[in-house]
Amino acid sequence: MAFLIKSHEARPADDPIFALNSEARARAKAGESVINATVGSLLEDDGSLAMLPTVVEAARATPPAVGAGYAPIAGPPTFLQAVTRDLLGDRKEASWVASVATPGGSGALRHAIGNFLEPKQTLLTTSFYWGPYKTLADENDRGIATFRMFDERGRFDSKAMRAALEKQLHSERRALMFLNSPCHNPTGYSLDSSEWREVRETIEDLSNIGPISVCLDVAYARFGAQPLSVMLDEMLALVPKALVLFAWSASKSFLQYGMRVGALLAVSSDDDERRRIQSALTYSCRGTWSNANSGGMDAITRVLNDPALHAKVDEERAVSTALLARRVSRWNELAPARGLKYPRYDGGFFVTVFTEDAFGAAERLKAAGVFVVPQAGALRVAVCSVAERDVPRLVDEIAKAIG
Ligand code: PLP
Repeated sequence: MAFLIKSHEARPADDPIFALNSEARARAKAGESVINATVGSLLEDDGSLAMLPTVVEAARATPPAVGAGYAPIAGPPTFLQAVTRDLLGDRKEASWVASVATPGGSGALRHAIGNFLEPKQTLLTTSFYWGPYKTLADENDRGIATFRMFDERGRFDSKAMRAALEKQLHSERRALMFLNSPCHNPTGYSLDSSEWREVRETIEDLSNIGPISVCLDVAYARFGAQPLSVMLDEMLALVPKALVLFAWSASKSFLQYGMRVGALLAVSSDDDERRRIQSALTYSCRGTWSNANSGGMDAITRVLNDPALHAKVDEERAVSTALLARRVSRWNELAPARGLKYPRYDGGFFVTVFTEDAFGAAERLKAAGVFVVPQAGALRVAVCSVAERDVPRLVDEIAKAIG
Protein backbone atom coordinates (compact mmCIF):
# COMPACT_ATOMS: atom_id res chain seq x y z
CA MET A 1 0.00 0.00 0.00
CA ALA A 2 1.33 3.45 -0.89
CA PHE A 3 1.01 5.79 2.03
CA LEU A 4 3.47 8.35 0.81
CA ILE A 5 1.91 10.90 -1.53
CA LYS A 6 2.77 10.40 -5.19
CA SER A 7 4.54 13.71 -5.66
CA HIS A 8 6.99 12.85 -2.88
CA GLU A 9 7.71 9.27 -3.91
CA ALA A 10 10.91 10.02 -5.81
CA ARG A 11 12.40 12.47 -3.34
CA PRO A 12 16.06 11.73 -2.66
CA ALA A 13 17.00 11.43 1.01
CA ASP A 14 20.65 12.11 0.46
CA ASP A 15 21.76 15.65 0.00
CA PRO A 16 24.43 15.09 -2.69
CA ILE A 17 26.95 17.33 -0.94
CA PHE A 18 26.61 15.57 2.40
CA ALA A 19 26.84 12.20 0.62
CA LEU A 20 30.11 13.19 -1.07
CA ASN A 21 31.42 14.49 2.24
CA SER A 22 30.65 11.14 3.93
CA GLU A 23 32.51 9.28 1.21
CA ALA A 24 35.52 11.58 1.49
CA ARG A 25 35.62 11.18 5.26
CA ALA A 26 35.33 7.40 5.07
CA ARG A 27 38.29 7.21 2.68
CA ALA A 28 40.35 9.57 4.84
CA LYS A 29 39.52 7.46 7.89
CA ALA A 30 40.75 4.39 6.06
CA GLY A 31 44.15 6.06 5.80
CA GLU A 32 44.07 7.63 2.35
CA SER A 33 45.42 11.12 1.74
CA VAL A 34 42.21 12.89 0.79
CA ILE A 35 41.37 16.51 0.01
CA ASN A 36 37.76 17.06 0.95
CA ALA A 37 36.58 20.25 -0.73
CA THR A 38 32.87 19.49 -0.47
CA VAL A 39 31.30 20.92 2.65
CA GLY A 40 30.78 24.58 3.44
CA SER A 41 32.33 24.73 6.88
CA LEU A 42 35.50 26.62 7.62
CA LEU A 43 38.14 24.16 8.80
CA GLU A 44 41.47 24.94 10.40
CA ASP A 45 44.54 23.80 8.49
CA ASP A 46 44.66 20.73 10.79
CA GLY A 47 41.18 19.70 9.62
CA SER A 48 39.31 20.61 12.81
CA LEU A 49 36.26 22.86 12.73
CA ALA A 50 37.16 26.54 13.07
CA MET A 51 35.22 28.20 15.88
CA LEU A 52 35.14 31.56 17.62
CA PRO A 53 36.00 30.86 21.29
CA THR A 54 34.03 33.85 22.60
CA VAL A 55 30.88 32.65 20.83
CA VAL A 56 31.40 29.14 22.20
CA GLU A 57 31.80 30.62 25.67
CA ALA A 58 28.71 32.81 25.24
CA ALA A 59 26.68 29.74 24.29
CA ARG A 60 27.98 27.94 27.38
CA ALA A 61 27.03 30.91 29.55
CA THR A 62 23.39 30.89 28.47
CA PRO A 63 21.24 30.55 31.62
CA PRO A 64 19.71 27.05 31.60
CA ALA A 65 16.18 28.40 32.04
CA VAL A 66 16.63 30.57 28.94
CA GLY A 67 17.88 27.66 26.88
CA ALA A 68 15.12 25.37 28.12
CA GLY A 69 12.29 27.85 27.73
CA TYR A 70 10.36 28.83 24.62
CA ALA A 71 11.48 31.96 22.81
CA PRO A 72 8.73 34.28 21.56
CA ILE A 73 7.33 33.01 18.27
CA ALA A 74 8.73 35.87 16.18
CA GLY A 75 11.97 35.78 18.17
CA PRO A 76 13.07 37.88 21.15
CA PRO A 77 12.84 41.62 20.33
CA THR A 78 16.37 42.17 21.69
CA PHE A 79 17.71 39.55 19.27
CA LEU A 80 15.84 41.04 16.31
CA GLN A 81 17.01 44.55 17.19
CA ALA A 82 20.60 43.33 17.53
CA VAL A 83 20.45 41.62 14.12
CA THR A 84 18.92 44.72 12.52
CA ARG A 85 21.71 46.85 13.99
CA ASP A 86 24.32 44.33 12.89
CA LEU A 87 23.07 44.60 9.33
CA LEU A 88 21.85 48.16 8.99
CA GLY A 89 23.65 50.04 11.77
CA ASP A 90 21.99 53.40 12.33
CA ARG A 91 20.64 53.81 8.80
CA LYS A 92 17.12 55.20 8.69
CA GLU A 93 15.92 51.95 7.12
CA ALA A 94 16.61 50.19 10.43
CA SER A 95 13.32 51.67 11.66
CA TRP A 96 11.43 50.22 8.67
CA VAL A 97 12.14 46.58 9.43
CA ALA A 98 9.69 43.74 9.99
CA SER A 99 11.62 40.73 11.20
CA VAL A 100 11.41 37.22 12.58
CA ALA A 101 13.91 34.75 13.95
CA THR A 102 14.46 31.63 11.85
CA PRO A 103 16.49 28.43 12.12
CA GLY A 104 19.49 29.69 10.17
CA GLY A 105 19.43 31.48 6.86
CA SER A 106 17.58 28.47 5.41
CA GLY A 107 14.55 29.31 7.52
CA ALA A 108 14.68 32.92 6.37
CA LEU A 109 14.78 31.82 2.73
CA ARG A 110 11.84 29.52 3.39
CA HIS A 111 9.73 32.32 4.80
CA ALA A 112 10.60 34.58 1.86
CA ILE A 113 9.38 31.93 -0.58
CA GLY A 114 6.26 31.23 1.46
CA ASN A 115 5.20 34.86 1.82
CA PHE A 116 6.25 36.73 -1.29
CA LEU A 117 5.22 34.20 -3.93
CA GLU A 118 1.84 32.55 -4.37
CA PRO A 119 1.78 28.73 -4.44
CA LYS A 120 2.93 27.41 -7.85
CA GLN A 121 4.74 30.64 -8.66
CA THR A 122 8.41 30.78 -9.47
CA LEU A 123 11.43 31.93 -7.52
CA LEU A 124 14.02 33.69 -9.65
CA THR A 125 17.75 33.42 -9.09
CA THR A 126 21.10 33.19 -10.86
CA SER A 127 22.01 30.22 -13.10
CA PHE A 128 24.56 29.12 -10.53
CA TYR A 129 22.86 28.84 -7.18
CA TRP A 130 22.99 27.03 -3.86
CA GLY A 131 21.07 23.77 -4.50
CA PRO A 132 18.75 24.05 -1.47
CA TYR A 133 17.10 27.10 -3.11
CA LYS A 134 15.37 24.59 -5.38
CA THR A 135 14.62 22.21 -2.52
CA LEU A 136 13.13 25.04 -0.47
CA ALA A 137 11.00 26.16 -3.42
CA ASP A 138 9.93 22.60 -4.19
CA GLU A 139 9.09 21.81 -0.58
CA ASN A 140 6.87 24.88 -0.54
CA ASP A 141 5.15 24.11 -3.86
CA ARG A 142 6.93 26.85 -5.74
CA GLY A 143 9.13 26.53 -8.80
CA ILE A 144 12.51 28.00 -9.61
CA ALA A 145 13.74 29.84 -12.71
CA THR A 146 17.20 31.18 -13.41
CA PHE A 147 18.97 33.73 -15.56
CA ARG A 148 22.53 33.58 -16.87
CA MET A 149 24.76 34.74 -14.04
CA PHE A 150 27.80 35.92 -15.99
CA ASP A 151 28.07 37.80 -19.27
CA GLU A 152 30.83 37.35 -21.86
CA ARG A 153 33.18 39.51 -19.80
CA GLY A 154 32.58 37.37 -16.74
CA ARG A 155 30.60 40.10 -15.01
CA PHE A 156 27.19 39.82 -13.37
CA ASP A 157 24.72 39.65 -16.26
CA SER A 158 22.22 42.31 -15.34
CA LYS A 159 20.77 42.24 -18.87
CA ALA A 160 19.85 38.59 -18.42
CA MET A 161 18.43 39.49 -15.02
CA ARG A 162 16.32 42.23 -16.59
CA ALA A 163 14.90 39.91 -19.24
CA ALA A 164 14.05 37.19 -16.71
CA LEU A 165 12.55 39.59 -14.22
CA GLU A 166 10.45 41.27 -16.87
CA LYS A 167 9.19 37.91 -18.14
CA GLN A 168 8.38 36.86 -14.59
CA LEU A 169 6.46 40.03 -13.85
CA HIS A 170 4.41 39.70 -17.01
CA SER A 171 3.61 36.03 -16.51
CA GLU A 172 3.09 35.94 -12.72
CA ARG A 173 2.32 39.57 -11.90
CA ARG A 174 4.94 39.54 -9.13
CA ALA A 175 8.50 38.41 -8.62
CA LEU A 176 10.76 37.18 -5.85
CA MET A 177 14.46 37.10 -6.62
CA PHE A 178 17.24 35.64 -4.47
CA LEU A 179 20.65 37.25 -4.83
CA ASN A 180 23.52 35.78 -2.85
CA SER A 181 26.45 38.14 -2.36
CA PRO A 182 29.06 38.66 -1.05
CA CYS A 183 30.84 35.36 -1.61
CA HIS A 184 28.16 33.70 -3.70
CA ASN A 185 27.72 29.99 -3.16
CA PRO A 186 28.87 28.21 -5.31
CA THR A 187 30.91 30.63 -7.46
CA GLY A 188 32.57 32.81 -4.82
CA TYR A 189 31.51 35.90 -6.78
CA SER A 190 30.78 39.21 -5.05
CA LEU A 191 28.97 41.90 -6.96
CA ASP A 192 30.88 45.19 -7.07
CA SER A 193 29.38 48.65 -6.69
CA SER A 194 28.70 49.15 -10.41
CA GLU A 195 26.98 45.76 -10.61
CA TRP A 196 24.79 46.61 -7.62
CA ARG A 197 23.96 49.90 -9.28
CA GLU A 198 22.83 48.05 -12.40
CA VAL A 199 20.73 45.69 -10.29
CA ARG A 200 19.10 48.63 -8.56
CA GLU A 201 18.42 50.50 -11.79
CA THR A 202 16.93 47.41 -13.39
CA ILE A 203 14.61 46.70 -10.47
CA GLU A 204 13.60 50.36 -10.32
CA ASP A 205 12.82 50.36 -14.04
CA LEU A 206 10.64 47.27 -13.79
CA SER A 207 8.96 48.06 -10.50
CA ASN A 208 5.92 49.65 -12.15
CA ILE A 209 5.00 46.31 -13.78
CA GLY A 210 4.35 44.51 -10.50
CA PRO A 211 5.64 43.98 -6.95
CA ILE A 212 9.28 42.90 -6.85
CA SER A 213 10.74 41.41 -3.71
CA VAL A 214 14.48 40.99 -3.71
CA CYS A 215 15.89 38.72 -1.03
CA LEU A 216 19.55 39.37 -0.32
CA ASP A 217 21.09 36.20 0.99
CA VAL A 218 23.88 37.58 3.14
CA ALA A 219 24.93 34.30 4.74
CA TYR A 220 28.58 35.12 3.96
CA ALA A 221 28.34 38.82 4.83
CA ARG A 222 31.37 38.78 7.12
CA PHE A 223 33.64 37.10 4.60
CA GLY A 224 33.36 39.55 1.72
CA ALA A 225 36.43 41.46 0.62
CA GLN A 226 34.40 44.65 0.37
CA PRO A 227 32.20 46.16 3.09
CA LEU A 228 28.50 45.31 3.06
CA SER A 229 27.72 49.01 2.62
CA VAL A 230 28.55 48.60 -1.09
CA MET A 231 25.41 46.47 -1.41
CA LEU A 232 23.34 48.31 1.17
CA ASP A 233 23.82 51.75 -0.36
CA GLU A 234 22.31 50.61 -3.64
CA MET A 235 19.73 48.10 -2.52
CA LEU A 236 18.18 50.09 0.31
CA ALA A 237 17.59 52.89 -2.19
CA LEU A 238 15.03 50.56 -3.78
CA VAL A 239 12.61 51.10 -0.91
CA PRO A 240 9.67 51.79 -1.43
CA LYS A 241 9.73 50.78 -5.11
CA ALA A 242 10.65 47.21 -4.20
CA LEU A 243 10.57 45.13 -1.06
CA VAL A 244 14.08 44.50 0.20
CA LEU A 245 14.55 41.34 2.26
CA PHE A 246 17.62 40.07 4.04
CA ALA A 247 18.23 36.43 4.91
CA TRP A 248 20.63 36.80 7.84
CA SER A 249 22.48 33.87 9.35
CA ALA A 250 24.77 33.26 12.29
CA SER A 251 25.98 30.00 10.75
CA LYS A 252 29.00 31.40 8.90
CA SER A 253 29.33 34.84 10.50
CA PHE A 254 29.69 33.31 13.96
CA LEU A 255 30.93 29.90 12.79
CA GLN A 256 27.95 28.27 14.51
CA TYR A 257 26.32 26.13 11.86
CA GLY A 258 24.64 23.82 14.36
CA MET A 259 23.19 26.58 16.49
CA ARG A 260 20.56 27.26 13.81
CA VAL A 261 20.20 30.97 14.42
CA GLY A 262 19.03 33.27 11.64
CA ALA A 263 16.49 35.93 10.78
CA LEU A 264 14.46 37.29 7.92
CA LEU A 265 14.30 41.07 7.72
CA ALA A 266 11.88 42.89 5.43
CA VAL A 267 12.44 46.60 4.81
CA SER A 268 9.28 48.51 4.00
CA SER A 269 8.69 52.21 4.61
CA ASP A 270 4.92 51.75 4.47
CA ASP A 271 3.67 51.31 8.06
CA ASP A 272 0.56 49.31 7.15
CA GLU A 273 2.38 47.03 4.74
CA ARG A 274 5.12 46.50 7.30
CA ARG A 275 2.56 45.53 9.96
CA ARG A 276 0.94 43.04 7.59
CA ILE A 277 4.32 41.57 6.69
CA GLN A 278 5.25 41.29 10.38
CA SER A 279 2.00 39.41 11.11
CA ALA A 280 2.37 37.10 8.11
CA LEU A 281 5.97 36.24 8.96
CA THR A 282 5.09 35.58 12.60
CA TYR A 283 2.22 33.36 11.45
CA SER A 284 4.67 31.47 9.23
CA CYS A 285 6.93 30.85 12.23
CA ARG A 286 4.02 29.33 14.12
CA GLY A 287 3.05 27.31 11.07
CA THR A 288 6.50 25.81 10.57
CA TRP A 289 8.89 25.51 13.53
CA SER A 290 6.99 27.60 16.15
CA ASN A 291 10.09 29.02 17.81
CA ALA A 292 13.75 29.23 16.95
CA ASN A 293 16.60 28.13 19.22
CA SER A 294 16.20 30.14 22.40
CA GLY A 295 19.66 29.53 23.87
CA GLY A 296 21.37 30.20 20.57
CA MET A 297 19.59 33.50 20.07
CA ASP A 298 20.40 34.52 23.63
CA ALA A 299 24.11 33.87 23.08
CA ILE A 300 24.20 35.70 19.73
CA THR A 301 22.29 38.64 21.23
CA ARG A 302 24.87 38.99 24.02
CA VAL A 303 27.73 38.74 21.56
CA LEU A 304 26.18 41.43 19.37
CA ASN A 305 25.13 43.75 22.18
CA ASP A 306 28.00 43.58 24.65
CA PRO A 307 30.76 45.88 23.31
CA ALA A 308 33.58 43.85 24.92
CA LEU A 309 32.27 40.51 23.62
CA HIS A 310 31.57 42.07 20.23
CA ALA A 311 35.14 43.35 19.96
CA LYS A 312 36.58 39.97 21.00
CA VAL A 313 34.47 38.14 18.42
CA ASP A 314 35.54 40.58 15.72
CA GLU A 315 39.17 39.93 16.62
CA GLU A 316 38.70 36.17 16.58
CA ARG A 317 36.79 36.30 13.32
CA ALA A 318 39.61 38.32 11.77
CA VAL A 319 41.90 35.35 12.45
CA SER A 320 39.45 33.06 10.61
CA THR A 321 38.97 35.40 7.67
CA ALA A 322 42.77 35.70 7.39
CA LEU A 323 43.06 31.89 7.35
CA LEU A 324 40.61 31.76 4.46
CA ALA A 325 42.20 34.74 2.71
CA ARG A 326 45.57 32.95 2.62
CA ARG A 327 43.98 30.00 0.83
CA VAL A 328 42.15 32.29 -1.57
CA SER A 329 45.32 34.13 -2.48
CA ARG A 330 47.23 30.85 -2.92
CA TRP A 331 44.41 29.68 -5.21
CA ASN A 332 44.51 32.92 -7.22
CA GLU A 333 48.27 32.62 -7.50
CA LEU A 334 48.20 29.04 -8.84
CA ALA A 335 44.88 28.39 -10.60
CA PRO A 336 45.13 30.85 -13.52
CA ALA A 337 48.63 29.59 -14.29
CA ARG A 338 47.19 26.07 -14.65
CA GLY A 339 44.50 27.36 -17.00
CA LEU A 340 41.56 27.03 -14.60
CA LYS A 341 38.61 29.22 -15.56
CA TYR A 342 36.67 30.66 -12.65
CA PRO A 343 34.83 33.88 -11.79
CA ARG A 344 36.42 36.80 -9.95
CA TYR A 345 37.23 35.35 -6.54
CA ASP A 346 38.31 37.73 -3.83
CA GLY A 347 37.09 35.87 -0.76
CA GLY A 348 34.53 33.42 0.50
CA PHE A 349 34.02 29.77 1.21
CA PHE A 350 33.75 28.50 -2.37
CA VAL A 351 34.95 28.96 -5.88
CA THR A 352 33.58 27.39 -9.06
CA VAL A 353 35.74 26.08 -11.87
CA PHE A 354 34.03 26.04 -15.26
CA THR A 355 34.30 22.80 -17.21
CA GLU A 356 32.02 21.09 -19.71
CA ASP A 357 32.31 17.61 -18.27
CA ALA A 358 31.97 18.46 -14.58
CA PHE A 359 30.57 15.07 -13.54
CA GLY A 360 33.32 13.15 -15.37
CA ALA A 361 35.97 15.47 -13.92
CA ALA A 362 34.59 14.99 -10.39
CA GLU A 363 34.82 11.20 -10.82
CA ARG A 364 38.43 11.46 -12.00
CA LEU A 365 39.19 13.73 -9.07
CA LYS A 366 37.64 11.27 -6.65
CA ALA A 367 39.91 8.56 -8.03
CA ALA A 368 42.83 10.88 -7.22
CA GLY A 369 41.53 11.45 -3.68
CA VAL A 370 40.11 14.94 -4.30
CA PHE A 371 36.45 15.57 -3.56
CA VAL A 372 34.60 18.52 -5.11
CA VAL A 373 30.93 19.00 -5.96
CA PRO A 374 29.99 18.76 -9.65
CA GLN A 375 27.08 20.56 -11.23
CA ALA A 376 26.16 21.28 -14.83
CA GLY A 377 29.19 22.97 -16.37
CA ALA A 378 31.15 23.53 -13.19
CA LEU A 379 32.94 22.12 -10.18
CA ARG A 380 32.30 23.70 -6.80
CA VAL A 381 35.45 23.79 -4.72
CA ALA A 382 35.05 24.45 -1.01
CA VAL A 383 38.30 26.28 -0.36
CA CYS A 384 37.03 26.82 3.19
CA SER A 385 37.75 23.20 4.05
CA VAL A 386 41.14 22.78 2.35
CA ALA A 387 44.41 23.45 4.20
CA GLU A 388 46.62 26.11 2.63
CA ARG A 389 49.37 23.51 2.10
CA ASP A 390 46.93 21.38 0.04
CA VAL A 391 45.91 24.16 -2.37
CA PRO A 392 48.75 23.34 -4.83
CA ARG A 393 47.69 19.67 -5.02
CA LEU A 394 44.04 20.70 -5.32
CA VAL A 395 44.77 23.03 -8.26
CA ASP A 396 47.04 20.50 -9.88
CA GLU A 397 44.55 17.62 -9.72
CA ILE A 398 41.68 19.80 -10.97
CA ALA A 399 43.81 20.95 -13.91
CA LYS A 400 44.63 17.33 -14.75
CA ALA A 401 41.03 16.14 -14.34
CA ILE A 402 39.53 18.74 -16.63
CA GLY A 403 42.38 18.38 -19.11
N1 PLP B 1 22.58 30.72 1.82
C1 PLP B 1 23.66 30.14 1.29
C2 PLP B 1 24.11 30.59 -0.05
C3 PLP B 1 24.34 29.14 1.98
O1 PLP B 1 25.42 28.59 1.43
C4 PLP B 1 23.86 28.74 3.23
C5 PLP B 1 24.54 27.64 3.93
O2 PLP B 1 25.34 26.93 3.45
C6 PLP B 1 22.72 29.38 3.73
C7 PLP B 1 22.11 30.37 3.00
C8 PLP B 1 22.04 29.07 5.02
O3 PLP B 1 22.72 28.46 5.95
P1 PLP B 1 22.10 28.17 7.39
O4 PLP B 1 20.71 27.72 7.21
O5 PLP B 1 23.01 27.14 7.91
O6 PLP B 1 22.18 29.47 8.12
